[in-house]
Amino acid sequence: MLTTAQTAYETLVAKARELGLLSSCSALLAWDEQTSMPTGGSTHRGEQMALLAGLHHERATDPKIGELLSIVEASDLVAQADSAPAANVRELRRAFERRTRLPRELVEELARTTSLAQQEWIAARRESSFPRFAPWLEKVVRLKRQEGDCLATIPDSGSQTGGSHNENARYDALLEDYEPGAKTAELAGLFQALKVELVPLIRQIGEASVRLGRAGSAGDQILRRTYPLERQKVFVEAAASAVGFDFERGRLDVTAHPFCTGIGPGDTRITTRYDQHQFGDAFFGVLHEVGHGLYEQGLPAEHFGTPLGEAASLGVHESQSRLWENAVGRGRPFWSYWFPVARRVFYEALRDVSLDAFLAAVNHVTPSLIRVQADEVTYNLHIIIRFELEQALLSGDLPVGELPSAWNQKYGETLGIAPGSDAVGCLQDIHWSAGLVGYFPTYTLGNIYAAQLFARAKSELEGLDGSLERGQSAELLSWLRSAVHRHGQCYRPRTLIERATGAPPDPSYLVAALRQKYEELFGL
Ligand code: ZN
Repeated sequence: MLTTAQTAYETLVAKARELGLLSSCSALLAWDEQTSMPTGGSTHRGEQMALLAGLHHERATDPKIGELLSIVEASDLVAQADSAPAANVRELRRAFERRTRLPRELVEELARTTSLAQQEWIAARRESSFPRFAPWLEKVVRLKRQEGDCLATIPDSGSQTGGSHNENARYDALLEDYEPGAKTAELAGLFQALKVELVPLIRQIGEASVRLGRAGSAGDQILRRTYPLERQKVFVEAAASAVGFDFERGRLDVTAHPFCTGIGPGDTRITTRYDQHQFGDAFFGVLHEVGHGLYEQGLPAEHFGTPLGEAASLGVHESQSRLWENAVGRGRPFWSYWFPVARRVFYEALRDVSLDAFLAAVNHVTPSLIRVQADEVTYNLHIIIRFELEQALLSGDLPVGELPSAWNQKYGETLGIAPGSDAVGCLQDIHWSAGLVGYFPTYTLGNIYAAQLFARAKSELEGLDGSLERGQSAELLSWLRSAVHRHGQCYRPRTLIERATGAPPDPSYLVAALRQKYEELFGL
């Protein structure tokens, strides 16, 4: 019997929705594992997760999907490049090719190796022993090379230039998992342009901090006073709710490592951790996860399970968290409204603190060793270092054994500091042990996109600062809904940013915003 293109498309969508439901069951189990599962449940949970992953893989690689895709691709349904069927088919094809190109043995070997490598990484970090981790990193790098080589053969449906046939082909192919359409050479250009501006800016901020008596730990001492946990919880929930996080369609819980997970339409979960002597941890951590959560809550529910109902990329996702955490949440307009509230809630800690002193503290900059604790400005250098090193590991230019010395050298050159041990050096992140190569750059891409989106929102929304000063951000959220959230994966990240802001991704918006902020705060 002849299958019409329309029927084929509807079958594809139905299959995608079922896969989406399976993934959301796994996401809910993973959330539960982090928030409430008793430790005794871990073996059983592992079996549940493995079964769901197996079912998902089996259905997602069903050859029938390839046949249905071919039928729709040959029809008029996909004639308009940004129509719903065309965008869905483009991204479903991409996902299908990536899943089916990899030999089963390689997938299984990667799963087995990264699971063991993560355990070895935990032990190696605890002992600060790189030699213990090195053989495992060696194995992971070898497998990621094989993976990159397999995936590099896929023709690139989203770009005019076709598949990558160059020295970056492997890394390009791995980037696709996190930032579809991004190319190594393009990112290298963006990051280099950012680095040459950030290095002198950080030096200038450092000199101003010394002049103002705010260098080192004096700079954010205010934030380490006593902030009672119960009050932090109330305050941060009020702020989350005020910026638009919908607690009827989401929740906030406590975990060791904060995250956001979109379970599905109407159910977005974020987490945080509280420390009574670190005001910024929970507050900015929650604003960050709220930014991710607002994106999830703003995805079109009617497209759940299909690419049009999913976030464009990790970089775009991160742009939403950084926009609320940094562009809004560390700005003067935001605190003009919230600081008087904070002073009433945390009277003992803040009664002798001015708005200016508070703003200086939440924007404190100091080169540090640990990425996840880094400030808004130096953070990007941590990422650029990792971006350069992981390419060198993948290409073989950097032998695994020489990673610690290369790492330390780069920290010296760019941040002027040297790790005292590998635990606070090249062993600090979980990513490589988990096989996540190509993931790091999405953090800085997120910062670049965030500054560019915020600059555009400011120019389109007259009086945005005034609204923020009155504690109102609804117009900013609806701008983001319309510029970013509602599109799902209709456009590739680069195109999405270009359509939203009128220009391709460009780090100069981030540099300009940082420079202006620190000129105002510290009189550079
Ligand atoms: Zn994030």
